[in-house]
Amino acid sequence: MSAPRNVVLLGSTGSIGASTLDVVERHPDRFRVFALAARRQDDVMLAQCRRVKPAHAVLIDPASAERLAAGVRAAGLPTQVHCGVEALDGFASAPETDCVVAAIVGAAGLGSTLAAAAAGKRILLANKEALVMSGALLMQSVRASGAMLLPVDSEHNAVFQVLPHRASENLAAAGVHRILLTASGGPLRETPLDEFAAVTPERACRHPNWSMGRKISVDSATMMNKGLEVIEACWLFNARPDQVEIVIHPESIVHSMVSYRDGSVLAQLGNPDMRTPIAHALGYPDRIEAGVEPLDLAHVARLRFEPVDFRRFPCPRLAYEAMAAGGTAPAILNAANEIAVEAFLDRRLGFDAIPRLIEATLAALPHRPAHTLSDVLGDDAAARRSARAWIEKQARGQAA
Ligand code: NAD
Ligand code: MG
Repeated sequence: MSAPRNVVLLGSTGSIGASTLDVVERHPDRFRVFALAARRQDDVMLAQCRRVKPAHAVLIDPASAERLAAGVRAAGLPTQVHCGVEALDGFASAPETDCVVAAIVGAAGLGSTLAAAAAGKRILLANKEALVMSGALLMQSVRASGAMLLPVDSEHNAVFQVLPHRASENLAAAGVHRILLTASGGPLRETPLDEFAAVTPERACRHPNWSMGRKISVDSATMMNKGLEVIEACWLFNARPDQVEIVIHPESIVHSMVSYRDGSVLAQLGNPDMRTPIAHALGYPDRIEAGVEPLDLAHVARLRFEPVDFRRFPCPRLAYEAMAAGGTAPAILNAANEIAVEAFLDRRLGFDAIPRLIEATLAALPHRPAHTLSDVLGDDAAARRSARAWIEKQARGQAA
């Protein structure tokens, strides 16, 4: 067997980070952790350093990085501690790095994902926001450098598994009729619409099937997660928005499907555990142990499928519209959503106002072609300003 691959895990202290470490630790013969990176949870990071003894650890927050460095010294660990965004990009593209797990949440993960793509790395992509913001640029960079982009998002990993090799070069030639992305419907699937205004962060984050970070949990409750995933699927598989359909599937056992011209529908099934797509992408093309219970279909007993109600959940409709509009529209959608989710989690914005804020931001800002990263980042910043102003205006209106 060849030498273990050097893995750089960006977003190690999060939910995907923890699942990735769990899989990596099962295979010391295949993987070695070269660097861990996160924002500021030095206590979690120190525990991870003790476990996997990475050569490097990065925290973005300076005070947290100092505490981590002291902890690493006291424990006599071999890890070098770094601070700052440059270190993220540096390890994502370092010559020693074989594989980059992009699991930072939100736009903050864009730079390091682009750096890994430009350097031709094997990228395990969880950070869907990077692809939503700058899909054209990221895919161009992947093609130009020969990087390998493997989806970790469970739906896209499922689609990847049931598409023939290289189908994304031409979906029609591969006989693909539609990509069917399944959605659990989130914690509010059956909540009456008139209760949406009173939904609290605690309730929105209580997902029936998956345990995830807070931002993606809110995205699941608004179903913006599925909207972002439609855009993600368009870029990953070179699909038009009308070739990607959302199907509600409350059990989260079928992770997605592809329907073919001849009437066949191929699906990937499994227990809802992110270690499966992570292990698939880490080991690809080999199948490796993930620590996941085998699926007991007789125990699951029933699989239900329903159409989406876009009236109750306007966010996925906004995502379809942004993808069809093209250019920087998806970046504007993503930025407005990040501001909306942050304000909702801080109790400064009602749950029902999230889609209204995103729609208002898209209407207020003309999108433009996304030729360069500065086009994308410029409109991302403008959308954040516009969304913040909308929230302040609303708060003033309520106070008056
Ligand atoms: P999380 O909130 O649990 O973890 C986020 C990680 O990103 C943490 O390690 C945090 O320190 C790091 N981070 C945040 N801001 C940062 C910054 N400015 N610089 C550097 N690091 C920063 O989130 P998660 O649920 O693990 O999700 C991570 C990504 O994976 C998201 O893009 C999400 O959409 C995607 N994803 C998650 C799941 C899931 O099951 N959790 C499934 C599919 C896709
Ligand atoms: Mg998903």
